[in-house]
Amino acid sequence: MNKIDKIIFATSNEGKMDEIRMIMKDCKIPVVSLKEAGINADIVEDGETFEENAVIKAKAIMEMTGCLTLADDSGLEVDYINKEPGVYSARYLGEETPYSVKNQSIIDRLCDAKGSERSARFVCAIAACFPDGRTFTTYGTIEGEIGYEEKGEHGFGYDPILYVPEYGKTTGEMLPEFKNDISHRGKALRLMWEKLKEEI
Ligand code: IMP
Repeated sequence: MNKIDKIIFATSNEGKMDEIRMIMKDCKIPVVSLKEAGINADIVEDGETFEENAVIKAKAIMEMTGCLTLADDSGLEVDYINKEPGVYSARYLGEETPYSVKNQSIIDRLCDAKGSERSARFVCAIAACFPDGRTFTTYGTIEGEIGYEEKGEHGFGYDPILYVPEYGKTTGEMLPEFKNDISHRGKALRLMWEKLKEEI
């Protein structure tokens, strides 16, 4: 019955793979990255939502390989600016633009926003596409607000500007192990693993 001999996670990011393997440590089936599966694919992520992009990636790799494939898509949503940069988080102001510039741009665009108007979140959607056509998606967030300046030396991307009131710090001020425990990706991944456990 169980013909799944490996699960591909459609990423080339080793940091993500470490987190995935940690969360799916009870999985008896090997979970491999694109590189480990020997796949070099350039997939156009032209969905309008995080879920759509995650499904586009997972489905494309599943169709190329015939393997159960997982993929994620994540980003920052800032309510005051209509949930920008959203699915364009990596491309906001251009892929090559330093995050110090992207972060300052968001801070500047919120110069008139006070208190709860500064609400924002990291979002992560995970998709799983099975060779028989079944598709599952899960979703996780980390809620916060945009700070007034960059803070913190940890993490990457928009971490220095997402202040999380519950912990009194930006995600850029959190140690990586701590952030992984509470992160949007961690939450979505744990939910996905709970669903997959029933199926494989
Ligand atoms: P991807 O889903 O890994 O491609 O991430 C898309 C983009 O969202 C990244 O390039 C970052 O700009 C942003 N992003 C996603 N997750 C985080 C995070 O945990 N911290 C900071 N930025 C993030």
